[in-house]
Amino acid sequence: MSELRLNRATKEWIILATERAKRPHQFLAKSAKERLPAHDSACPFCPGNEKLTPPEVYALREKGSQPGKSSWRIRVVTNKYPALDPMKKMTKITGRFFRTASGVGKHEVIIETPQHNKSIATMSKRQVEETCLVYLRRYLILEKDRRFKLIIIFRNHGVTAGTSLRHPHSQVIALPLVPASVRHLLEEAMRYYDDHGSCVFCDMLEEELAAKKRVILKNEKFVAFHPFASRTPFETWIVPRKHDACFGNIAPDEVKSMAAVLKHILKKLHDKLGDPDYNLLIRTAPIKDAQEDYYHWYFQILPRLTTPAGFELGSGVYINTSLPEATARFIKK
Ligand SMILES: [Zn+2]
Ligand SMILES: [Zn+2]
Repeated sequence: MSELRLNRATKEWIILATERAKRPHQFLAKSAKERLPAHDSACPFCPGNEKLTPPEVYALREKGSQPGKSSWRIRVVTNKYPALDPMKKMTKITGRFFRTASGVGKHEVIIETPQHNKSIATMSKRQVEETCLVYLRRYLILEKDRRFKLIIIFRNHGVTAGTSLRHPHSQVIALPLVPASVRHLLEEAMRYYDDHGSCVFCDMLEEELAAKKRVILKNEKFVAFHPFASRTPFETWIVPRKHDACFGNIAPDEVKSMAAVLKHILKKLHDKLGDPDYNLLIRTAPIKDAQEDYYHWYFQILPRLTTPAGFELGSGVYINTSLPEATARFIKK
Protein backbone atom coordinates (compact mmCIF):
# COMPACT_ATOMS: atom_id res chain seq x y z
CA MET A 1 0.00 0.00 0.00
CA SER A 2 1.25 3.42 -0.78
CA GLU A 3 -0.34 6.78 -0.13
CA LEU A 4 0.21 10.25 -1.53
CA ARG A 5 -0.10 13.12 0.88
CA LEU A 6 -0.26 16.85 0.23
CA ASN A 7 1.43 19.47 2.38
CA ARG A 8 -1.14 22.27 2.22
CA ALA A 9 1.41 24.97 3.01
CA THR A 10 4.13 24.06 0.52
CA LYS A 11 1.79 22.37 -2.00
CA GLU A 12 4.27 19.49 -2.14
CA TRP A 13 3.03 15.97 -2.65
CA ILE A 14 4.98 13.21 -0.97
CA ILE A 15 4.73 9.46 -1.37
CA LEU A 16 4.44 7.41 1.78
CA ALA A 17 5.81 4.04 0.74
CA THR A 18 4.55 1.93 3.59
CA GLU A 19 5.46 -1.29 1.73
CA ARG A 20 9.12 -0.58 2.19
CA ALA A 21 8.47 1.23 5.40
CA LYS A 22 11.16 1.10 7.98
CA ARG A 23 10.27 0.86 11.62
CA PRO A 24 11.49 4.03 13.38
CA HIS A 25 14.16 2.20 15.41
CA GLN A 26 15.74 0.84 12.21
CA PHE A 27 17.24 4.26 11.53
CA LEU A 28 19.38 4.05 14.65
CA ALA A 29 22.42 1.97 13.70
CA LYS A 30 23.38 3.92 10.57
CA SER A 31 24.06 7.15 12.32
CA ALA A 32 26.53 6.39 15.12
CA LYS A 33 29.26 9.06 15.22
CA GLU A 34 32.90 9.11 16.19
CA ARG A 35 33.72 10.72 19.53
CA LEU A 36 35.18 14.22 19.25
CA PRO A 37 37.59 15.88 21.72
CA ALA A 38 36.42 18.97 23.70
CA HIS A 39 39.23 20.97 22.07
CA ASP A 40 40.97 20.38 18.73
CA SER A 41 44.14 22.42 18.17
CA ALA A 42 43.70 22.10 14.38
CA CYS A 43 40.14 23.50 14.42
CA PRO A 44 39.85 27.17 13.33
CA PHE A 45 36.75 27.63 15.50
CA CYS A 46 38.35 26.39 18.75
CA PRO A 47 39.58 28.92 21.38
CA GLY A 48 43.19 29.93 20.79
CA ASN A 49 42.79 29.80 17.01
CA GLU A 50 40.88 33.08 16.62
CA LYS A 51 43.53 34.29 14.18
CA LEU A 52 42.60 31.54 11.73
CA THR A 53 39.15 33.01 11.10
CA PRO A 54 38.28 36.29 9.35
CA PRO A 55 37.77 39.16 11.85
CA GLU A 56 34.95 38.94 14.34
CA VAL A 57 31.70 40.74 13.47
CA TYR A 58 30.08 40.11 16.83
CA ALA A 59 30.76 38.19 20.04
CA LEU A 60 29.35 37.41 23.44
CA ARG A 61 32.12 37.29 26.02
CA GLU A 62 32.58 37.45 29.78
CA LYS A 63 32.50 40.98 31.22
CA GLY A 64 35.79 42.86 31.11
CA SER A 65 37.53 40.52 28.66
CA GLN A 66 39.27 41.78 25.54
CA PRO A 67 38.29 41.17 21.91
CA GLY A 68 40.61 38.75 20.19
CA LYS A 69 41.09 36.79 23.41
CA SER A 70 39.67 33.32 23.90
CA SER A 71 37.13 34.31 26.55
CA TRP A 72 34.12 34.33 24.22
CA ARG A 73 30.92 32.30 24.57
CA ILE A 74 29.71 32.87 21.01
CA ARG A 75 31.56 34.40 18.06
CA VAL A 76 30.23 35.55 14.71
CA VAL A 77 32.73 35.81 11.85
CA THR A 78 32.50 36.27 8.12
CA ASN A 79 32.71 32.97 6.27
CA LYS A 80 36.29 32.47 5.08
CA TYR A 81 35.01 31.24 1.73
CA PRO A 82 31.84 33.32 1.40
CA ALA A 83 29.28 32.38 -1.22
CA LEU A 84 28.56 36.09 -1.70
CA ASP A 85 30.56 39.32 -1.58
CA PRO A 86 29.67 41.86 1.15
CA MET A 87 31.66 44.68 -0.48
CA LYS A 88 29.66 44.82 -3.69
CA LYS A 89 27.05 47.50 -4.28
CA MET A 90 23.41 46.94 -5.26
CA THR A 91 22.80 43.94 -7.45
CA LYS A 92 22.39 44.82 -11.11
CA ILE A 93 20.92 42.25 -13.44
CA THR A 94 22.46 42.25 -16.90
CA GLY A 95 22.31 40.17 -20.08
CA ARG A 96 19.37 39.85 -22.49
CA PHE A 97 19.21 36.06 -22.43
CA PHE A 98 22.20 34.90 -20.42
CA ARG A 99 21.37 36.75 -17.22
CA THR A 100 23.91 37.57 -14.54
CA ALA A 101 23.86 39.62 -11.37
CA SER A 102 26.74 40.71 -9.16
CA GLY A 103 27.09 38.36 -6.21
CA VAL A 104 26.38 40.83 -3.43
CA GLY A 105 25.43 39.39 -0.06
CA LYS A 106 26.65 38.39 3.36
CA HIS A 107 27.74 35.00 4.57
CA GLU A 108 28.39 34.74 8.30
CA VAL A 109 29.27 31.90 10.62
CA ILE A 110 27.93 31.75 14.18
CA ILE A 111 30.34 29.73 16.33
CA GLU A 112 27.89 28.59 18.97
CA THR A 113 30.23 27.50 21.75
CA PRO A 114 33.98 27.26 22.52
CA GLN A 115 33.52 23.50 23.04
CA HIS A 116 34.43 21.50 19.96
CA ASN A 117 32.35 18.43 20.75
CA LYS A 118 28.99 19.98 21.66
CA SER A 119 25.84 20.39 19.60
CA ILE A 120 22.50 22.04 20.32
CA ALA A 121 21.33 18.68 21.66
CA THR A 122 24.09 18.57 24.29
CA MET A 123 24.73 22.27 25.03
CA SER A 124 23.51 23.95 28.22
CA LYS A 125 20.14 25.69 28.21
CA ARG A 126 21.89 29.07 28.41
CA GLN A 127 24.11 28.30 25.41
CA VAL A 128 21.12 27.40 23.25
CA GLU A 129 19.25 30.53 24.37
CA GLU A 130 22.24 32.70 23.56
CA THR A 131 22.67 31.03 20.17
CA CYS A 132 19.02 31.76 19.36
CA LEU A 133 19.42 35.36 20.56
CA VAL A 134 22.42 35.75 18.26
CA TYR A 135 20.29 34.39 15.37
CA LEU A 136 17.85 37.21 16.10
CA ARG A 137 20.53 39.89 16.52
CA ARG A 138 22.21 39.05 13.24
CA TYR A 139 18.84 38.96 11.50
CA LEU A 140 17.93 42.42 12.81
CA ILE A 141 21.26 43.88 11.73
CA LEU A 142 21.25 42.35 8.23
CA GLU A 143 17.62 43.18 7.43
CA LYS A 144 18.49 46.89 7.67
CA ASP A 145 20.81 46.64 4.67
CA ARG A 146 18.79 47.78 1.66
CA ARG A 147 20.76 45.51 -0.68
CA PHE A 148 19.35 42.34 0.91
CA LYS A 149 15.98 40.76 0.19
CA LEU A 150 16.02 37.50 2.12
CA ILE A 151 17.96 36.19 5.12
CA ILE A 152 18.47 32.48 5.55
CA ILE A 153 19.63 31.11 8.90
CA PHE A 154 20.61 27.45 8.84
CA ARG A 155 22.62 24.78 10.57
CA ASN A 156 24.20 21.75 8.89
CA HIS A 157 24.90 18.96 11.35
CA GLY A 158 27.12 16.11 10.17
CA VAL A 159 28.89 15.21 6.96
CA THR A 160 25.85 14.05 4.97
CA ALA A 161 24.13 17.35 5.89
CA GLY A 162 26.98 19.19 4.19
CA THR A 163 29.16 20.35 7.06
CA SER A 164 32.91 20.60 6.48
CA LEU A 165 33.86 21.68 10.03
CA ARG A 166 32.69 19.63 12.99
CA HIS A 167 32.87 22.49 15.51
CA PRO A 168 29.26 23.50 16.35
CA HIS A 169 28.19 26.40 14.19
CA SER A 170 25.28 27.88 12.27
CA GLN A 171 25.35 30.08 9.18
CA VAL A 172 23.55 33.17 8.02
CA ILE A 173 23.30 34.18 4.38
CA ALA A 174 21.76 37.48 3.25
CA LEU A 175 20.63 37.25 -0.37
CA PRO A 176 20.11 40.11 -2.86
CA LEU A 177 17.08 38.36 -4.41
CA VAL A 178 14.16 36.10 -3.53
CA PRO A 179 14.69 32.66 -5.12
CA ALA A 180 11.89 30.94 -7.04
CA SER A 181 11.34 28.24 -4.37
CA VAL A 182 10.69 30.86 -1.66
CA ARG A 183 8.50 32.88 -3.99
CA HIS A 184 6.51 29.72 -4.74
CA LEU A 185 6.00 29.08 -1.01
CA LEU A 186 4.73 32.63 -0.57
CA GLU A 187 2.44 32.49 -3.57
CA GLU A 188 0.85 29.27 -2.33
CA ALA A 189 0.32 30.81 1.12
CA MET A 190 -1.20 33.89 -0.51
CA ARG A 191 -3.55 31.77 -2.64
CA TYR A 192 -4.70 29.83 0.44
CA TYR A 193 -5.27 33.10 2.29
CA ASP A 194 -7.38 34.42 -0.58
CA ASP A 195 -9.44 31.21 -0.73
CA HIS A 196 -9.95 30.61 2.98
CA GLY A 197 -9.39 33.95 4.63
CA SER A 198 -6.88 32.45 7.03
CA CYS A 199 -3.18 31.64 7.22
CA VAL A 200 -2.39 28.10 6.06
CA PHE A 201 0.21 27.68 8.80
CA CYS A 202 -2.20 28.80 11.54
CA ASP A 203 -4.72 26.31 10.12
CA MET A 204 -2.10 23.57 10.00
CA LEU A 205 -1.27 24.16 13.66
CA GLU A 206 -4.91 23.96 14.61
CA GLU A 207 -5.41 20.74 12.61
CA GLU A 208 -2.25 19.09 13.94
CA LEU A 209 -3.20 19.99 17.54
CA ALA A 210 -6.68 18.57 16.99
CA ALA A 211 -5.39 15.39 15.33
CA LYS A 212 -2.88 14.91 18.19
CA LYS A 213 -1.12 12.07 16.32
CA ARG A 214 1.98 13.91 15.14
CA VAL A 215 2.54 16.56 17.82
CA ILE A 216 5.79 16.01 19.72
CA LEU A 217 5.82 18.97 22.07
CA LYS A 218 3.86 22.12 22.74
CA ASN A 219 4.42 24.98 25.12
CA GLU A 220 2.71 28.32 25.50
CA LYS A 221 4.40 29.79 22.43
CA PHE A 222 5.48 26.97 20.10
CA VAL A 223 4.28 23.63 18.76
CA ALA A 224 6.61 20.95 17.34
CA PHE A 225 5.27 18.17 15.13
CA HIS A 226 6.10 15.74 12.33
CA PRO A 227 4.04 17.16 9.43
CA PHE A 228 1.22 15.06 7.93
CA ALA A 229 3.10 15.10 4.60
CA SER A 230 6.66 14.81 5.94
CA ARG A 231 9.30 14.77 3.23
CA THR A 232 11.74 12.61 5.16
CA PRO A 233 11.48 10.32 8.17
CA PHE A 234 11.48 12.44 11.36
CA GLU A 235 11.10 15.77 9.52
CA THR A 236 10.08 18.21 12.27
CA TRP A 237 8.46 21.64 12.12
CA ILE A 238 8.55 24.02 15.05
CA VAL A 239 5.85 26.63 14.50
CA PRO A 240 5.16 29.69 16.67
CA ARG A 241 1.56 29.89 17.87
CA LYS A 242 1.58 33.64 17.33
CA HIS A 243 0.98 34.49 13.69
CA ASP A 244 3.93 36.33 12.26
CA ALA A 245 5.51 36.26 8.82
CA CYS A 246 8.98 37.18 9.97
CA PHE A 247 11.40 35.59 12.42
CA GLY A 248 12.81 39.08 13.07
CA ASN A 249 9.56 40.12 14.77
CA ILE A 250 10.01 37.62 17.62
CA ALA A 251 10.26 39.13 21.12
CA PRO A 252 13.29 38.29 23.30
CA ASP A 253 11.12 36.40 25.84
CA GLU A 254 9.78 34.25 22.99
CA VAL A 255 13.35 33.39 22.04
CA LYS A 256 13.78 31.60 25.40
CA SER A 257 10.73 29.50 24.73
CA MET A 258 11.92 28.80 21.18
CA ALA A 259 15.34 27.71 22.45
CA ALA A 260 13.74 25.31 24.94
CA VAL A 261 11.68 23.61 22.22
CA LEU A 262 14.60 23.49 19.78
CA LYS A 263 16.89 21.90 22.34
CA HIS A 264 14.23 19.41 23.40
CA ILE A 265 13.55 18.31 19.81
CA LEU A 266 17.23 17.99 18.85
CA LYS A 267 18.04 16.14 22.06
CA LYS A 268 15.26 13.67 21.38
CA LEU A 269 16.65 13.05 17.86
CA HIS A 270 20.16 12.74 19.31
CA ASP A 271 19.16 10.29 22.03
CA LYS A 272 16.67 8.21 20.10
CA LEU A 273 18.51 7.93 16.78
CA GLY A 274 22.16 8.12 17.84
CA ASP A 275 22.93 11.73 16.81
CA PRO A 276 21.77 11.72 13.17
CA ASP A 277 22.93 14.28 10.61
CA TYR A 278 20.36 16.98 9.90
CA ASN A 279 19.71 20.37 8.31
CA LEU A 280 17.96 23.00 10.35
CA LEU A 281 16.38 25.99 8.59
CA ILE A 282 14.48 29.07 9.62
CA ARG A 283 11.82 29.59 6.97
CA THR A 284 11.06 33.28 7.18
CA ALA A 285 9.43 35.74 4.80
CA PRO A 286 11.49 37.98 2.52
CA ILE A 287 12.34 41.26 4.29
CA LYS A 288 9.72 43.31 2.45
CA ASP A 289 6.98 40.78 3.32
CA ALA A 290 7.68 40.87 7.08
CA GLN A 291 4.23 42.24 7.98
CA GLU A 292 2.09 40.10 5.63
CA ASP A 293 -0.94 38.18 6.92
CA TYR A 294 -0.64 35.13 4.69
CA TYR A 295 2.83 33.87 5.64
CA HIS A 296 4.03 32.43 8.94
CA TRP A 297 7.67 31.74 9.82
CA TYR A 298 8.79 28.36 11.23
CA PHE A 299 11.73 26.04 11.86
CA GLN A 300 12.20 23.05 9.59
CA ILE A 301 14.45 20.19 10.69
CA LEU A 302 15.29 17.63 8.03
CA PRO A 303 17.21 14.60 9.36
CA ARG A 304 19.50 13.01 6.77
CA LEU A 305 18.43 9.43 7.27
CA THR A 306 17.70 8.74 3.62
CA THR A 307 19.31 10.10 0.44
CA PRO A 308 17.20 11.84 -2.19
CA ALA A 309 17.91 10.17 -5.54
CA GLY A 310 17.00 10.45 -9.22
CA PHE A 311 13.28 10.16 -8.69
CA GLU A 312 13.23 13.06 -6.20
CA LEU A 313 15.44 15.17 -8.50
CA GLY A 314 13.27 14.43 -11.53
CA SER A 315 9.86 14.84 -9.94
CA GLY A 316 10.35 17.02 -6.88
CA VAL A 317 8.27 14.40 -5.08
CA TYR A 318 9.89 12.83 -2.03
CA ILE A 319 9.40 9.21 -1.07
CA ASN A 320 9.14 8.88 2.68
CA THR A 321 9.51 5.36 4.03
CA SER A 322 8.16 6.13 7.50
CA LEU A 323 4.74 7.18 8.67
CA PRO A 324 4.99 10.51 10.53
CA GLU A 325 2.44 9.16 13.01
CA ALA A 326 4.83 6.29 13.80
CA THR A 327 7.95 8.44 14.05
CA ALA A 328 6.13 10.92 16.31
CA ARG A 329 5.04 8.10 18.61
CA PHE A 330 8.60 6.72 18.68
CA ILE A 331 10.23 10.05 19.47
CA LYS A 332 7.78 10.86 22.26
CA LYS A 333 8.02 7.49 24.01
ZN1 LIG B 1 36.70 23.28 17.30
ZN1 LIG C 1 -0.30 32.14 10.66
